[in-house]
Amino acid sequence: MRRTSARLGAGALALLGLVALATPVEAEVNVYSARKEDLIKPLLDRFTERTGIQVNLITADAGPLLRRLESEGRNSPADLFITTDAGRLHAAKEAGVLRSVSSPALEAAVPQTYRDPQGYWYGLSLRARPIMYVKGKVKPAELSSYEALAEPRWKGRICIRGSGNIYNQSLVASMLEANGHKATLAWLEGFVANFARKPKGGDRDQIKAAAAGECDIAIANTYYLARMLTSDDEAQRAIAAKLAVFWPNQGERGAHVNVSGAGVTASSSHTEEAVRLLEFLVTDASQEWYAEVNNEYPVKSGVKRSGVVAGFGEFVADGINLSVLGYNNREAVKLMDRAGWQ
Ligand code: FE
Repeated sequence: MRRTSARLGAGALALLGLVALATPVEAEVNVYSARKEDLIKPLLDRFTERTGIQVNLITADAGPLLRRLESEGRNSPADLFITTDAGRLHAAKEAGVLRSVSSPALEAAVPQTYRDPQGYWYGLSLRARPIMYVKGKVKPAELSSYEALAEPRWKGRICIRGSGNIYNQSLVASMLEANGHKATLAWLEGFVANFARKPKGGDRDQIKAAAAGECDIAIANTYYLARMLTSDDEAQRAIAAKLAVFWPNQGERGAHVNVSGAGVTASSSHTEEAVRLLEFLVTDASQEWYAEVNNEYPVKSGVKRSGVVAGFGEFVADGINLSVLGYNNREAVKLMDRAGWQ
């Protein structure tokens, strides 16, 4: 469209202007999503049915999508960027590809801790990263906090994925906020010394390794366990059934949580529609559906949790503003490196 109009003369442009006045610009939103299509598409279709606003969806992995936004710059057709982890959302903000938006509906629905203080991104669903233990091998009474997992009695008993993973970086970023640089480095050294094996695989692989007897504790996001528990595959259900969730740091700052979320892009030419879509995604009905298909928690309070997620029990979540996970990311990565977390 831009290229075509550049080639047209002034007269033709004036004509186009008249045409534009007569027929309104097509209402649409272009979404770049790092969430899998079937975990978001039905919701976008419902939005189109309600509003007549067309949604064009591009799905890819989080890293490539962010790089694409950066390289397209101001010419990017994207209006909304959807991704997981506050660390990534913050990185997108710092890369300059998001813009600040605000609306009373968004501010009312999304608790302050789960959105960027300047409105560059909003959490859409909540995920928790508790301690999971093998039933019969660990008594819940032996567990207390993330910090206590650095004690020597856990030597060779912990499975967790690599330090390149943003979920772990965000967990360490939250500990930096709570305990400071020195204590976090000391904790990391003890914690890494307790790993049962060199980190490999994703969260689901840690759960599998624990169930297979390689370790007694796995650190993983709750939705992985929930997906395994509700799997059509009996073998997956049997693996997941061997583990239980322990909510750490209760009675103090709370368990580590994170979000999936979205931000309106700096390049957006459909800002109003993008904000309307965000508002739609935080209505009660959307929140319930979105959290349920993703096996996550709604960000909006009072919205029903799915059965399997509710089964993990009530817990107190760390109350820091999640943008802190982004601000502390670089230092977290540095300390993880120093402690030899591969
Ligand atoms: Fe994940």
